[in-house]
Amino acid sequence: MKTSNDILKESIEYLKYIKDYRKIDIYKENISIVEAEYGEILKDAGLNDEIEQTIYIAEPKEPKLFSEDWEESKSLPELESKINKCTKCRLGSTRKNFVFGAGNPSADVVVIGEAPGGDEDEKGIPFVGRAGKLLTDILEAIKFSREDVFICNIIKCRPPANRNPLPDEIKQCEPYLFKQLKIINPSFILCVGTFAAQTLLKTKEPLGKLRGKFFDYTVEGKSIKTLITYHPAALLRNPNWKRPTWEDVQMFKKEYDKWKGLKNG
Ligand code: SF4
Repeated sequence: MKTSNDILKESIEYLKYIKDYRKIDIYKENISIVEAEYGEILKDAGLNDEIEQTIYIAEPKEPKLFSEDWEESKSLPELESKINKCTKCRLGSTRKNFVFGAGNPSADVVVIGEAPGGDEDEKGIPFVGRAGKLLTDILEAIKFSREDVFICNIIKCRPPANRNPLPDEIKQCEPYLFKQLKIINPSFILCVGTFAAQTLLKTKEPLGKLRGKFFDYTVEGKSIKTLITYHPAALLRNPNWKRPTWEDVQMFKKEYDKWKGLKNG
C-alpha cells in the first residue's frame, strides 16, 4: 500500500521527467498531467485535491539554451557579487541599491517579500524602516532573530514609487531567488504579502485564501514547507490583520519546532 509520501514523491519525479524530456513548464496547471497518470492511485488515496493544491515546482518558465556565469555560484557571496550590477530589467537603471537579501546563509527558514521599498533601496538591506521593524518583532515573538533566518524579496531592485513589479521584471529576477533557495537549502519559507505569495505559487488566489495552511514548494526536488501571511506593511495600514498574522506565525513556529524536534532525534 503506497503512503501519501510515496505518491507525492512519484508525482514529483514524474513532473521532473516531463520537465526534462518534454521541455514544458511545471506549474500548478501541469498537475493535471500527473493526475491523469496517477489518477487511480490518487483517487484511492483521496489525494486529488491535496495534490492539486500543494505541489509547486520552482523552475524557470522557459528552457534555456545557454547558462550564465552566476548560475554556477556555490555560495551567496559569490552569487551576490555576480548579480549585484544586474541591469536585465528597467529597474536596474532606477534603483539606488541592489537588495540581495540578508541573514543566515544556511538558514532553515527563508522569509520572502515582494520587492525593496524606499528605505531598502536607500540602504541595500531588505525589510528596514517601520515595516522591517515590525517583521523583526514578529520574528522575535516566535523566537527567531533576523540573524537566524534569511530575508529577501522576489525582486531585487525597487520598482519606482513602490508600484507592483511587472511580469517581465519578475521573469528576469525570479531565477535569482531560485538560485538563492538552492544555495541556502531551507526547510521552511515564510512568504509575506499577496504579491509575493501569488508570484511564488503562480496563482491569482487572494491572500485570505492562501494563508493559514502550508504549501509544499519544491526546489531541485526538495520540498520546502511554505506558509503565506500578511506583509508587515499591510499590518501597519490595517491592524485588523494582526490577529490572523499572529495565528499564522504561531502555526509556522509549531510546525518548525516539530520538524526541528524530529531532526534532532
Ligand atoms: S530587478 Fe532583478 S532583473 Fe531587474 S535589474 Fe534588478 S536584479 Fe536585475
